[in-house]
Amino acid sequence: MPPEGWFRKRSKFSAAPAASHTAANAVPEGVVQKCLNPKCGQILFTKDFEKNLKVCPHCEFHHKLTADERIAYTVDEGSFVPMAEGLRSVDPLRFPDYQPKVDKLTATTGLNDPMKIGTARIKNVPCVIGVSDMRFVGGSMGSVAGEKVVRAMEAGIENRLPVILFTASGGARMQEGLLSLMQMAKTSAAAALLAAHKIPYFVVMTDPTMAGVLAAYASLGDVIIAEPAALIGFAGARVAAQASTAKPPDGYQSAEWQLGRGQIDSIVHRKEMPDTLASLLMMMGCEAIEEAPVVDAVETPSEVTVG
Ligand SMILES: [Zn+2]
Repeated sequence: MPPEGWFRKRSKFSAAPAASHTAANAVPEGVVQKCLNPKCGQILFTKDFEKNLKVCPHCEFHHKLTADERIAYTVDEGSFVPMAEGLRSVDPLRFPDYQPKVDKLTATTGLNDPMKIGTARIKNVPCVIGVSDMRFVGGSMGSVAGEKVVRAMEAGIENRLPVILFTASGGARMQEGLLSLMQMAKTSAAAALLAAHKIPYFVVMTDPTMAGVLAAYASLGDVIIAEPAALIGFAGARVAAQASTAKPPDGYQSAEWQLGRGQIDSIVHRKEMPDTLASLLMMMGCEAIEEAPVVDAVETPSEVTVG
């Protein structure tokens, strides 16, 4: 074959426009995603990733969860009954852009506040549970989050149910100023009341648990568990570095670092969390209840006619 023929053949192959070739083979949006651990970065199939409770199968990095995801991964299916969902923050200081920001977050997340509380069962053990959602102003504790923590604890006392709180927060909410700082005292007092009533109180620190939340109800649990590699501290590493000439050690303020210093009791993998919580609750005297009996569906008439 003459050399010209080779060239003609090659031009035929390159005739297809590159753009359409890419479009035809593009992965549909949402099918894959990247592990957010900067040391890993593996591409993960979203379906497998979600089945693995959003833990990377390559590096075990525990990705952040929404409150709904956390509840779904932790409590018995269909057992969560929310409480105090309608509470909303006011804007006491008329802080610039605060109210529009809260309104926008409510529209995008469906939440009125980062803290979601309610009653539920974990492996059939009834409890009060509270979960913080980082999407809502960084999980910050304003007057509503503080009030919800207190209401969860009061519900524990009234119903003699253990209280489990999953923390995820950058700290107190600066837009509510002193009212946010007051929540530290308020939630700590409620935790003391729980202890006085001998109600078990567990905290699960997830990434990150910082500042005013760590310095209040998060550190007062009878049992304090953390998820692997969660950032746990008061002042962040950057602020700490400014206050000291010493370089922060490797792994500073990680769950593992805090465990080594007795700040937390245990680090538990997300997959093991329901079993661990249920066993600990039963060790503290809480009892598993039988599941609600299955009742045959009875057709309810939509209208009642009186003859
Ligand atoms: Zn990974």
